[in-house]
Order: sequence, then C-alpha cells, then structure tokens
Amino acid sequence: MKIDPIKNGIVIDHIEAGKGQMVYDFLGLSQADCMVALIKNVPSKNMGKKDIIKIDADISVALDVLGYIAPEATVNIIKDNNIVEKRKVQLPETLTNVVKCKNPRCITSVEPGIAQTFKLVDRENKVYRCIYCEAKAND
Ligand code: ZN
Repeated sequence: MKIDPIKNGIVIDHIEAGKGQMVYDFLGLSQADCMVALIKNVPSKNMGKKDIIKIDADISVALDVLGYIAPEATVNIIKDNNIVEKRKVQLPETLTNVVKCKNPRCITSVEPGIAQTFKLVDRENKVYRCIYCEAKAND
C-alpha cells in the first residue's frame, strides 16, 4: 500500500499499534475538512507494528491529549515536503476536559460547566488526579 507523502501538514508517527483509532477520535479528526489518513499496523523496526496518522493541513493538534493517550508518539510538522519540526510527545502536567471525574460527589459531577481538570501527580506510573476531589483518572 502506498500513501502519497503530504506537502504541508502533520504526521503523527510511532503511535502504538491499535491506538490509532483512539487518537483519531480524541483529536476529533472526523470533523476535519482536510485529508486525513489513518494507517494501521505499519511494520516498524523498533515497535514491531505501529499506527500512523497523516493530516494534509496545518491544523493545530491537541498535544496534551496526544501526550496522555499516546505518549510514545512523535509529531512531525511538514512544510514544502520537508520535516521542519519533530516533536516528542510527553505526558502533560494537566489534562483539561480529556477524562471525566468518576466521583459522583465531585463538584465537576454536580455542577455542569466546570472544566474537568486533572493534574499529573506521578509521571512514572502515569497517575493523574482530579484537582477538586483528588480522585484518580483511571480507576
Ligand atoms: Zn473530581
């Protein structure tokens, strides 16, 4: 299978195989009005298999979201057929409106319209806690 290289846009590379669809959904790429290609199970020397997303436009990508769901990914910015920037994604310090607090008594569950904000408390174990009630993000 051959996918045309993109001239100006963004390539999200080294997504763990199987997570491409989740990244696609989280970034809201189904709403994008440019060409977007999700390529699954691409053979990779380091990873065995990987997923890649190519976006044929210079749109802004929510890197904090990406850092949370695919921290191993790399983001390549393409301009005039050249990679002008390679960004390594990292776990973000805070997550806003990415995950929902599951504590039914949390103020974010009671009061609609309050941003769901989580803070990274343990980078090694990827632990995030709600800033209001300290509930863990992934329990
Ligand atoms: Zn909470």
